[in-house]
Amino acid sequence: MQDVHELLKKRPLIISGPCSAETEEQVLTTASELAATGRVDILRAGIWKPRTRPGSFEGIGTKGLPWLQQVKKYTGLPSAVEVATGRQVQDALHFDIDVLWVGARTTVNPFSVQEIADALRGVDIPVLIKNPINPDLELWTGAVERIAKAGIRTIGLIHRGFSSYGNTEYRNAPMWHLAIEMKRRHPEMMIICDPSHICGKRDTIPGVIQKAVDLDYDGLIIESHVNPDEAWSDNKQQITPSQLEDLLSKIVWRFENSDKEEFQNALANLREQINQIDDELLLLLGRRMAVSENIGQFKKDNNITILQTNRWNEILGKALQQGKKHGLSTEFITKYLEAIHLESIQHQNKVMNRVP
Ligand code: PEP
Ligand code: MN
Repeated sequence: MQDVHELLKKRPLIISGPCSAETEEQVLTTASELAATGRVDILRAGIWKPRTRPGSFEGIGTKGLPWLQQVKKYTGLPSAVEVATGRQVQDALHFDIDVLWVGARTTVNPFSVQEIADALRGVDIPVLIKNPINPDLELWTGAVERIAKAGIRTIGLIHRGFSSYGNTEYRNAPMWHLAIEMKRRHPEMMIICDPSHICGKRDTIPGVIQKAVDLDYDGLIIESHVNPDEAWSDNKQQITPSQLEDLLSKIVWRFENSDKEEFQNALANLREQINQIDDELLLLLGRRMAVSENIGQFKKDNNITILQTNRWNEILGKALQQGKKHGLSTEFITKYLEAIHLESIQHQNKVMNRVP
């Protein structure tokens, strides 16, 4: 049996399986169909389900853990489950679960995360930590730190999107910039995307996966069920194993780096062009500000205000037209000119307030 820490280094790492383990048959059939795709590395299955409202299916509980042992016996797939309490950690370990994850509703609660960390002390199992429900990177980092302090050597991040009021496009808004910032803060940690909980529905999943792949994520965790419409939880976002296979075959996989010399040379050449253009742009911007200062001096000598709205509208209108011709978006031109304008005013101000 392959070491699970080594397995987690596979790229792209694909984790898939039902939102919830429901019956032994459902888990085993889903797992064997997923294993047959040859694309899935780890089976996920929710055993204890944190549900927003009481009365929904709250998970099969400890009874489902031996089913995951069966999965490993028959398909070879290791399994991952969500844990939210110390007791759940102990039960999962007792039944040889290979990977644990901390859910979004738990990451928000330092007491719960600490309880999990305490139960993990002295245990060698990989732990994946979902982002908290609310867009707060400190909470996410805090959870990582608590688990790391317990001595866990393989920790990964799962980006599952953030709750935001009035958001309709996604179940949980991805807010990609937050995940990118988290990756920047923890470059040693793998980050995988959970398109199922970001989307909340099947049809937008492929676009979110492609975006994650383009952003160089290390892997994906996708909910899959033999009969998604009849699933006991998250039935709108689950896909069948064969839909998963089809979807993954259509993704364009990209790599951050290629060792091929030809590729490296071409890239170095293009990067040099960018460096040159950036140098020229900065030189031109410096020159533009110098002209601004001359204008400032001229206005001062003639006692005229710095800001002249008509002139500014004229510049903006012209730039938008020109920018469009060069394929630049209105949003970019507006932001760019606003920044230039602000800097220009500062330069003119400097001249205006210069004591002779
Ligand atoms: C889940 O993975 O089924 C789950 C409950 O996800 P989250 O913690 O992201 O809501
Ligand atoms: Mn789910």
